[in-house]
Order: sequence, then structure tokens, then C-alpha cells
Amino acid sequence: MNKFLTTVAAMAILTTSCTQKATNEFNYNVDKFADIEVLRYKVPGFEELSLDQKKLIYYLNEAALQGRDILFDQNGKYNLAIRQTLEAVYTNFNGDKNSDQFKAFEKYLKQVWFGNGIHHHYSMDKFVPEFSQEFFTEQVKTVPAEQLPLAEGQSVDELLATLCPVIFDPSVMAKRVNQAQGEDLIITSANNYYEGVTQNEVEEFYFNQKSVADPFPVMFGLNSKVVKENGKIVEKTYKLDGLYGEAIAKIVYWLKKAEEVAENDVQKAHIGKLISYYETGDLKTFDEYSILWAKDTVSTIDFVNGFIESYGDPLGMKGSWESLVNFKNLDASSRTEIISANAQWFEDNSPVDSKFKKETVKGVSAKVITAAILAGDCYPSTPIGINLPNSNWIRAIHGSKSVTIENITSAYDEAAKGNGFDQEFAYSQEEIESMNKYLSLTDNLHTDLHECLGHGSGKLLPGVDPDALKAYGSTLEEARADLFALYYLADNKLIELGILDNPEAYKSEYYKYVMNGLMTQLTRIEPGKNIEESHMRNRKLISEWAYVHGKEDNVIEYVKRDGKTFIKINDYAKLRELFGKLLAEVQRIKSEGDFEAGMKLVEEYAVKVDPEIHKEVLDRYAKLNIAPYKGFVNPVYTAVTDENGNITDITVDYSENYVEQMLRYSKDYSPLTK
Ligand code: ZN
Repeated sequence: MNKFLTTVAAMAILTTSCTQKATNEFNYNVDKFADIEVLRYKVPGFEELSLDQKKLIYYLNEAALQGRDILFDQNGKYNLAIRQTLEAVYTNFNGDKNSDQFKAFEKYLKQVWFGNGIHHHYSMDKFVPEFSQEFFTEQVKTVPAEQLPLAEGQSVDELLATLCPVIFDPSVMAKRVNQAQGEDLIITSANNYYEGVTQNEVEEFYFNQKSVADPFPVMFGLNSKVVKENGKIVEKTYKLDGLYGEAIAKIVYWLKKAEEVAENDVQKAHIGKLISYYETGDLKTFDEYSILWAKDTVSTIDFVNGFIESYGDPLGMKGSWESLVNFKNLDASSRTEIISANAQWFEDNSPVDSKFKKETVKGVSAKVITAAILAGDCYPSTPIGINLPNSNWIRAIHGSKSVTIENITSAYDEAAKGNGFDQEFAYSQEEIESMNKYLSLTDNLHTDLHECLGHGSGKLLPGVDPDALKAYGSTLEEARADLFALYYLADNKLIELGILDNPEAYKSEYYKYVMNGLMTQLTRIEPGKNIEESHMRNRKLISEWAYVHGKEDNVIEYVKRDGKTFIKINDYAKLRELFGKLLAEVQRIKSEGDFEAGMKLVEEYAVKVDPEIHKEVLDRYAKLNIAPYKGFVNPVYTAVTDENGNITDITVDYSENYVEQMLRYSKDYSPLTK
């Protein structure tokens, strides 16, 4: 294994020195449309797993793929009906496939697949169809009626009357998640977590349930939709005999198969607990599951499957469905194990006020993993690191698990080689060389530190509501984890631990971080718009705050050259000090639940965009012709069986393209569509 990896790395270095990329039989680039590029990833090491391990992955993969419809529906009430209608038109189309109308239609469908609904996965804005309503209407009418999502007694015209405004009227369901200050965030958000209720009603409903005195609160509202019935507010719980029951039944079916081939009793126990959570919808059971799962640091194969992250809810409570199946990358994991083993040292030596520090950092575990399948909210756009569970008290008492997904980050790196981005935006050759040399490592290290130490560090003061920062909570939490990582990247401790071999290496990550936070991430924002997404707000917050507070010492400078703006960092040591200062303040805000201060920080530094810089960045970026967003297709796993139907092997194939995969998933894994 080791040798194989080194050979590949050496080849990669050789190929970058040539202007023409050597033809490699593995093609990372799958599809490109709108602002999206779809890639594929390798699953190195799968062949070396035992048959039982392969079976376990296979069953967990099936459980993962069965949840796709849930996320579509959570993202918007009409998403499944729209997807089904679009696919029916697409697969029945008999006209000119080169016509502008059809091409625009195909692009829109690809966007809807990618966004798991009609909104952009990142900006949350509704996609704008570039084909006409007439074209759409005409096509839908030619489709066999049984392929359309018609409700009982509904005519095709009635279906069109429902769907057309949702697709074509820009004012209808304009934003999936609205974070604009001062507006009713529930009414103005198009997600399907709430219906017929106001923000005040929702806040009151949950406020009445949350008892600050309970030291072990469940994650209120995580697995339900809130609706009004006969004037009363009620929760519709996601469970076997509740909302999404048909999909949950399929997930449970495959989880039971997985349970039978579990690697050990620890793993068997948490799979079993997850099944009973899906059966009952009981959040206490979910906490018990999370604890068992967090304690499973022995299994090679691991997975997430459930209602997990709350970025899709403006109030940060509802969990979007996701799944990620993976196995441990043993070689690369030694790096994160060293970091984890020293967690207490990092906590003790951080620039945070000691009253906000954890006396004992428990059970911080971290590993590098190889993703086997991405699903739900991890697909096609996927995170490169994960830290779970999300429950604050479980993290504090039982610890959390943290992973870096290295086959995904390496697919990004490989696919981006030679695209000209750094040459266009970096200040000079010095920064480019430093990034070429160290960024792969420092970027991965940043993710490790962010996930396995950053999120797990610090504590709330007694009685502080974990949701006190409300809509600003996710941005500030990401900032806290990023600052922790940035601060320590420049620490000699990493040299001492043998993780970095050059005390200057951190500069590559500092440079990229600030350049991205102040300038290049603006490629993801449309002209005239502000920054909404919490990870982006976090990067802007940190970079802008450091720029403003370092102004006197000229720590970060905007330099103009040939009419182009560049970021120049004049004093890296001072910059580190600034990161430390901001870390201390963000931790204080979180620990005390200081909503006012948190809001001020975010509104002042994280949201607003300078229109001039924005325009310049967009113009320069457009010339490079790079898609700002990337995502992945999954490999196809096939069970090989003998004449008695027993599985004898699982094979992996990488040849499926984006459209094929999406249509296959809609056909084979759509328990919630007709
Ligand atoms: Zn994070």
C-alpha cells in the first residue's frame, strides 16, 4: 500500500512539470455545468478489505442511498415532484437535443440534482431556469401520465399549476435558508422543516420545552417538521411509522443486514441503537446511539447515517439527512492520532481565558478516512472533514470523533492541478512556491486541527443556553474551530511532534486562508449579494477582522499591480497573534452566550462585500474558466454472488457518469416518490 501511494505521488510531481498532463487512466473530471464541476474519487484500499468488511460497506452503502429522497423533501416541499417531472420529460424527450431550450432544460435538471432540490446548495438561492415555461408545459403534456407525480384525482394541468410558479416565479420560494437580519426567518425560508408557522411561534414552542436545568438535554427539534394543526403547533417526527417512514423502512432493512456482519460488539451495539432510534424517533435514544458511536474508535469501518447537520434550518435545530460510509486510512491516521494524544496540551496552551477552557479534554479521537459512499447532504457536494456528534454535553462528557476524508481532498487536488488559479491571485512566486510545497499538508492539518481539537475545545459557563447565539451560532462556531487551527498551525509544538518539518510551512496556509477570506471566495457570490453561508462568513470574519486590527502595523496589505489587487502579508508572526486574540474573544462569546457581541462581530466583519473588489475578482476568475463549486459521483459497488445467492465479492467500478448515476438513483432508490 505504502509503496503504491508513493509511486502515485511521484508520478503526480512529474506530470505537473510538463505542460501537457500525462494521460492517466483515472479521469477525475466527470461533468461541468453552470457553476459546478463534478469529479470522481478513488477508493484506494477497498480491494484489500476482508469479504465481511466489504459486505458491511455494501450494506451500509445501500442504507445510505435509500435516504436521498428524504433530503430532497427536507429542502423543499415540491422538490420530489419537480425532480420526478423533470426526469420524466428528460427521459421521454424526442425532439432536438441540441436546441437551446433542451440544453437549458438539461442544465437546470443537473442543477436540481446537484442542489438536492431547486435551490443552490451553497448560496441557497433558487435556480433560474433558462428554458421557457411554454417549453416545459408542452413537454410535460407529452409524458405518459403514470410517470408524473400526480396526486389522487389531480390532472396534469393542476400539477403544472402547482409546479410552474415554484420553478419559474422568482418571488416564490426564493431562498432555501434566509439569514437576513430583521426578517421572519421561518416564513421567508423555503425549506420544508416548518409549515404554516412563524419564527416567533417556533421559538416559543421550543423555548417552552428547553429546560436550562437539564444537564443532558436532547437536541430539540432535530428530527421533525413543525406544523400547525387546528391552530395548535405540533411536531411531525421522522420515524418508521411517521414522516418519511417508507424511506426509513428501507434504511432500517439495510442497517439490519449490516448489523449481522458488524466487525465487533461495539459496532453491533451502535448499529442496533440507531435502528431503534429510526423505529421510535426518540431523541433520547439518539443520544444513547451517539454515545455508543462516539466510543467506537476500534472499528475499521465506520459510518454516519441520520438527521445530523442543521445548516439547512435558519434556526439551526433541524437535522438534514446525510450519510457517509468510510474505512480507516491507517497510514495517514498516525498524524491525527498524534494530535489527539496531545489534545490536553493544546487546550491548556491556547490563548483563551482559562475559565472557558476544559479542565480535561476527553476522548478526542481523530482519524484519516477513505470515503466509500457519499449520500444525502454529503452528496454530490461533500465536506472534507467531519466532527460528530453535535450534542454539546455528549461532546463534553463522552468526546467526539473527528475525521479527515483524504481520498476526497486528494481528488480535489488532482483535479485542480494546472488550472492557473494561484498564478492569477497569489501576490508573488514566493507565495506560489510555498503553497505548492506545503499547502496539501497544511490544508489537511488545518482540517485535522479544526475538526479534532477546534470544535471540541472550550466549554460553556454553567446555565448558558447552547443555542444562545441563535442565527449567528454556526458562523461563530466555525470561526472558533478555524481560529484554533490557524493559531496552532504556527506553533513549534507541531515541529516538536514531528508533524511538520519546517517552521515556515504554516505561511502557505495563512496566505491561502486570508487571500480566500478577503478575495477569492467571492467567486462564489453573485454580484450585488452579501455573504450568507456560515463557513464563508466565518472565513470573511477572521480575515477581515485580522486586516482591520492589523492595519496599524500593516500586517495585511492590499497591493495594486497592473490594475489588479493582491493580498500581501507583511507580518506573519503578528497575524498569528491576531488570530489568537480573536480566538479568545470568540470563545468568550460562545462560553458566555453573549448574543449581542456575537451579532456585532458577524454583522460588522463577516457579511458585507466590497463591490469593487468583488467585481474584479469575478472578472479575473471568469477568465480562468474554473467552476467555483465541486462535487462527486460515487463509485458503483456490485455484489458478486454464487449459484446459491451468497455474496462472494463486492466489486467497485468508477465508470458511471453524472447523468447515469442520478437517473439510476432516482429509479432504484426513491422510496418517497411514486
Ligand atoms: Zn467545522
